[in-house]
Amino acid sequence: MPQTASRLNVFTESVIRGMTRLANRHGAINLAQGFPDFDPPEELLVALERATRGPHHQYAVTWGAPRFREALARKITRFSGVPVNPEENLVVTCGSTEAMMVAMMTACNPGDKVIVFSPFYENYAADAILSGAEPIYVPLRPPRFDFDRPELARAFAQKPKAIIVCNPSNPTGKVFTRAELIEILALAEQHDAFVIMDEPYEHIVFAPSEHVYCAALPGAAARTITCNSLSKTYSITGWRLGYVQAAPEVIAQARKVHDFLTVGAAAPLQEAAVAGLELPESYYAGLRDLYTRKRDVFLDCLRQTGLPFTEPQGAYYVMVDISSLGFGTDKEAAERFVREIGVAGVPGSSFFREPENRYIRFHFAKREATLRAAGERLLRLREFASNPEALLKSKLQGRD
Ligand code: GLN
Repeated sequence: MPQTASRLNVFTESVIRGMTRLANRHGAINLAQGFPDFDPPEELLVALERATRGPHHQYAVTWGAPRFREALARKITRFSGVPVNPEENLVVTCGSTEAMMVAMMTACNPGDKVIVFSPFYENYAADAILSGAEPIYVPLRPPRFDFDRPELARAFAQKPKAIIVCNPSNPTGKVFTRAELIEILALAEQHDAFVIMDEPYEHIVFAPSEHVYCAALPGAAARTITCNSLSKTYSITGWRLGYVQAAPEVIAQARKVHDFLTVGAAAPLQEAAVAGLELPESYYAGLRDLYTRKRDVFLDCLRQTGLPFTEPQGAYYVMVDISSLGFGTDKEAAERFVREIGVAGVPGSSFFREPENRYIRFHFAKREATLRAAGERLLRLREFASNPEALLKSKLQGRD
């Protein structure tokens, strides 16, 4: 049999999505892959029903159905203040996942370097490899996950073509401040690099933190490529709707990449999602309150385990430090949590460049009842510390 491409040998399938499959097999509560277990807003469901009866069953315009792009442009400008021409500044993609791939292939030639903060959302490393780019990793150091400016400047001195910034950050929950973004932009300008932003959690930010749109900062327009998605804002991760927003010259090239990768995002779903983009300000305030409550409920549950964890400023992930439980690896821990406790998380090592084994990432985009049920089960983490075998035994005795 012929050999498959060697570039595929240097990364694995997504660990996040692998944990979902494991959770499903064992009937565990899935706090691994970040998606809600509650419905999108009623307005979207009504619009989706209506869209099924409309003329939306064939290809939409490749770079996005006009009505969707217009509503999207208005919504982006409403929140970020950035002027967006739907004809020139947007490509609609299949989720932020495709948006990031499009951004990378638009910005980078094979062999170009790209700065990635570590820990990072696992797609970025694979995207870099698939687009032929070489990642340069710059650590974000716990507990605040700040970067060291001289270290970042040294990375920029290696002449990267781009830097990828996830803000609010998955998996750390860090929200980059205006000052940090200005520093990043200044370095990018000095070394003529693109700033590729990934902002699907723009509306999930906890007071007093605030989301700053990099594209809105002075001098950012020409070099910022923003990748985003409707998945988290409207609880529609399965609709796979995302977009790239950038300068017209960049978008003209990005359209070509998108065109030959996927042709386009699903037409009826673009039509229906307009209802989400037109929701009033109160929807977003409600979303922030909803997630603030979920965060508080889940962090309370975690406090009772006695294990240290990160307190997110935004997004909906928490990194729990399990180093005191004495597992060989975080992968082993995550697998045992699924099988023996019934809660799935993601081994933290899949987000780090460094050999870091101490974290499990859990997300809290779940109904409060689900979070409390998970919290009950997670209390049993304490048993691992004293007697790891006890859990297995109680399981065999049918206690759960
Ligand atoms: N962003 C989600 C997570 O980190 C998953 C996204 C995906 O699987 N495409 O869990």
